[in-house]
Amino acid sequence: MSRRIWLRVLAVCGLCAAALGQARPLPGPDVTQIYQRLLPQIEKIPIFDHHAHPGFADDPDVDAMASPPGSAALRTRDTNPELVAASKALFGYPYNDLSPEHAKWLVQKKAELQKAQGNAYFSNLLDKLNIEQGVANRAMMADYLDPKRFPWVFFADSFMWPFDNQRERARNRDEEVYIPLQEKMLHRWMQQENVDKWPPDFASYLAFVSRVLEDNQKKGGIAMKFEVAYFRATKFADPRREQAEDVYQRFRSGGIPSEQEYRTFQDYIFRFLVREGARLHLPVHVHSAVGIGDYFNLSEGNILNLENILRDPRYSGTVFVMIHGGYPYEHQAIWLAAVKNVYLDTSLMELDMYPSEFRRVLKTWLETFPDKITFGTDSFPYNETLGAEESYWLGVQSARTALAAALAEMISEGEVSEPQALQLAHGYLHDNAVAIYEGRVH
Ligand SMILES: [Zn+2]
Repeated sequence: MSRRIWLRVLAVCGLCAAALGQARPLPGPDVTQIYQRLLPQIEKIPIFDHHAHPGFADDPDVDAMASPPGSAALRTRDTNPELVAASKALFGYPYNDLSPEHAKWLVQKKAELQKAQGNAYFSNLLDKLNIEQGVANRAMMADYLDPKRFPWVFFADSFMWPFDNQRERARNRDEEVYIPLQEKMLHRWMQQENVDKWPPDFASYLAFVSRVLEDNQKKGGIAMKFEVAYFRATKFADPRREQAEDVYQRFRSGGIPSEQEYRTFQDYIFRFLVREGARLHLPVHVHSAVGIGDYFNLSEGNILNLENILRDPRYSGTVFVMIHGGYPYEHQAIWLAAVKNVYLDTSLMELDMYPSEFRRVLKTWLETFPDKITFGTDSFPYNETLGAEESYWLGVQSARTALAAALAEMISEGEVSEPQALQLAHGYLHDNAVAIYEGRVH
């Protein structure tokens, strides 16, 4: 551990005098004992879940996009035996497998609880898992989610697709699903602002975009979210306003822009939204990991493509939260958190990785920029068995155990003291994220 990083860890912990001696490369025989001591303390920390999509499987507003048929990583399949443990913990499931016959019990149990608890159903779930507040990153909020427990993060991608999207849709089978949903999202923003066709001048289009952001913020939105990596490469060039304006003028009322013309327009709009994020104190969340669907392009969506934006001093007033921590490039991604206004979130990583592997990731992150990492579950109604409920449980359990294990090793190896470790745990599970929103969440 370099001296610079060590000083950062000390600074985070608010301790400057602790002398732990030289760090060791291997944990000692006390590591299991430390783990067992830490875990119950970590379980008592109320969580702020920085990224999730709470809702029922039949609710189309759970996300601004839908998953096309494609492969799912081993742990996120409905065959994962851990889901039995989730069902037992959450619903008192009496069986030891999820055979179709037995799974009926679970479906019925959830339906009964939803009926009995009504709008408190998801809040009760948070209580059960000791989650104080959990972000609802949704197309629109649902009336069955209490906004006091579920702060809204809305989607901002659709402003980049206002033209005829024939060419965009035709790129592959996944885009056939995604692009019409972006059009639907944009249409809903138009309805919200009483706009029925695109204004003749570009300035009015930008004013429309700003109005949507402002109104969503008034409705309780705490951040804007991009999942742009699903729709195009995340390398954004820096075109002049006149270039974007020219594309707008030529295609606002019809015609199909060339790929280059469309990208130029989008590059400008993305940067405009990033600047608005600073003006409105509206943090910018960006999907920065591998995505679902068989056509998600890993290299075009690589988190490092965004480095030119994240390290641009013109955007130092915008807070960026890199959702899913750049996975599977998380090892490089943590160095982006060196930028004062850039944070990394671990959602999805705890679901795709098993705790033993996630522990290694978390340890590296905690040893690098521990004050810049935040917890999220990416809870989502993935399928019949892995619902939003079970994915909350799996995310929370995985993160707590992996965190306890990572910190136990760090303590045993002489990197941090136990009180420092617990402070890092509070930061990751709650404090780091909450500090971003200037009192709007707790
Ligand atoms: Zn998500």
